[in-house]
Amino acid sequence: MIKDKVVIITGASSGIGEATAKLLASKGAKVVLGARRADKLKRIVDEIANDGGQAAYKELDVTKQPDNDAIVELARKTFGRVDVMFLNAGLMPISPLSALKTDDWHQMVDVNVKGVLNGVAAVLPEFLALKSGHIIATSSVAGLKAYPNGAVYGGTKWFVRDFMEVLRMESAMEGTNIRTATIYPAAINTELLETISDEGTAAAMQNTYDKYGISPDRIAHVVAFAIDAPEDTTINEFTVGPANQP
Ligand code: NDP
Repeated sequence: MIKDKVVIITGASSGIGEATAKLLASKGAKVVLGARRADKLKRIVDEIANDGGQAAYKELDVTKQPDNDAIVELARKTFGRVDVMFLNAGLMPISPLSALKTDDWHQMVDVNVKGVLNGVAAVLPEFLALKSGHIIATSSVAGLKAYPNGAVYGGTKWFVRDFMEVLRMESAMEGTNIRTATIYPAAINTELLETISDEGTAAAMQNTYDKYGISPDRIAHVVAFAIDAPEDTTINEFTVGPANQP
């Protein structure tokens, strides 16, 4: 059931996070949006409210543990509890390793890896105590297959895959009904390519997305499907992309 579930979404100011917030709210979820650009979050929350949905937002930098704790606290204060944590914030400043864009490497590790750890640390104690809850993370097809220029990005998304699988196993071994889902999107038209600073890589990726990219709404439907599954059922992994992308 989606209706009345309290869902925190990180990276909710654009793309997949925004589309998911809107779709879940339209299905009766109470959504709590986090990202760094508070002005964008406010606009989205206003749109959701105008459409009759329930939403709140908080400025969030997933690399900071106190920010993650604060958005969980906001969800509790506003809606009484947290049912689902959607760990979706991410960056993709990909480039050849030879370009030595070490700042980009570290940023991807900080947001895509440590951001996920911080989000899990913020909700896991309560989920373990309740023996329930749902943690959903956005990995990437780059977390399933190696791509040139994507060594660090792919590495962060492989991490998400491994981490989420162990989280699933340990949650079950500890006798909880905590559910997990990991999503592996292919080319989805969002603001993600704007994070690429290497010109050659950016142009090549833009060509691919111009040819194949599909709406982030497609991923939102998959998140909704995972949440809507019976409470005793984990729908664990989804690979989702354009039908015509090889
Ligand atoms: P967008 O760039 O549209 O969205 C990324 C979101 O992450 C934004 O809301 C951004 O908000 C947020 N974000 C970035 N850094 C931080 C931070 N430090 N703290 C909090 N939020 C942050 O791209 P997508 O919607 O495509 O990306 C969502 C996820 O999907 C990412 O994890 C990405 O890796 C993954 N993905 C996307 C694919 C695609 O083709 N689009 C393919 C495979 C995976 P703000 O800048 O306001 O903080």
